[in-house]
Amino acid sequence: MRANILISACLLGQPVRYDGRGKLLSHPALGRWQGEGRLVSFCPELAGGMAVPRPPAEIEAGGTGEDVLAGRARVLEVTGGDVTGVFLAGAEKALSFAREKECAYALLIDGSPSCGSLAIYDGSFSGVKHAGQGVTAALLMRAGIAVFSDREIEALAALT
Ligand code: SF4
Repeated sequence: MRANILISACLLGQPVRYDGRGKLLSHPALGRWQGEGRLVSFCPELAGGMAVPRPPAEIEAGGTGEDVLAGRARVLEVTGGDVTGVFLAGAEKALSFAREKECAYALLIDGSPSCGSLAIYDGSFSGVKHAGQGVTAALLMRAGIAVFSDREIEALAALT
């Protein structure tokens, strides 16, 4: 039996993003994986305790998810609130859920301070991105789960 795929809930159109919307991804592989019962939907920020809608948040000062996991950077809301603990809790829950559901892969939306895997915003809330992972993506990668961004769905579809 092929391994399951953890997917950002917003990529399935679930209205869980900070702005109360989803970001539906359209690709034939999604239908195939759904038909095989292999897609496992999860939103780390909701699981950590965030509400919908919520203020946008970014990892401070050009930091990455690895920096947050190591205690070198915080996750801050645009309003100044420190939500580092919530993001860490959400990442831990995502990893536990991925293990429970036997996910060897994760397909996560890029750019998010939780789910980003290629690039994230730089903490200035000015729309500038830099290379790096969000907190959940970094923790899943550490645990050996193969993380793909939504922009890499073709590569994941070719693999599994
Ligand atoms: Fe989507 Fe991930 Fe943000 Fe949840 S935490 S809204 S799944 S990008």
